[in-house]
Amino acid sequence: MSSEIEYKDPVVDWETRAYWEACARHELTVQRCGACGKVQHRPRAICASCLSGEVETLVASGRGTVHTFTIVRQNQVPPFASACPYVLAYVDLEEGPRLLTNIVDCEPDSVAVGMPVQVEFVDTGEFAVPRFRPA
Ligand SMILES: [Zn+2]
Repeated sequence: MSSEIEYKDPVVDWETRAYWEACARHELTVQRCGACGKVQHRPRAICASCLSGEVETLVASGRGTVHTFTIVRQNQVPPFASACPYVLAYVDLEEGPRLLTNIVDCEPDSVAVGMPVQVEFVDTGEFAVPRFRPA
C-alpha cells in the first residue's frame, strides 16, 4: 500500500524565493518577459529567451495538461520509497511553461498524456510544494 510523498521544504535562493513564497500562499506563479513576451518557469532574474531583465511575475491559472509521465514503482530513496507507486510527470501549464511535478489523487494507471490537471499544494513548513490532480 502506498502512502503520500513526504515533501520537505525546498532549497530556496535569491532567484527562487518569491516563487516559493507564492507557493506558500498556494499560488503557482510564472514569469512573463516585458521585452519579448515569453512566459517562463523556473523563476530567473532574466528572460531565458532574450536575456532581458524585464521579467514580471504573474499568478498562473493552475490548469494544465499532462505532457508525459512515468509511474515510479521502485525508488528506495526516502521519502519516496513508501510512496511507490507514484506518478512523476511533465505538465504543460495553460500559460505555456512545462513543470516537472507529481500527479496525485488518482490511480497511477489512470493518468494519460493530454489529461487535464489542476494544481494543488502540500505545505512543507515554511513553504509549499505544487503538485497536480485530475481536473
Ligand atoms: Zn524575453
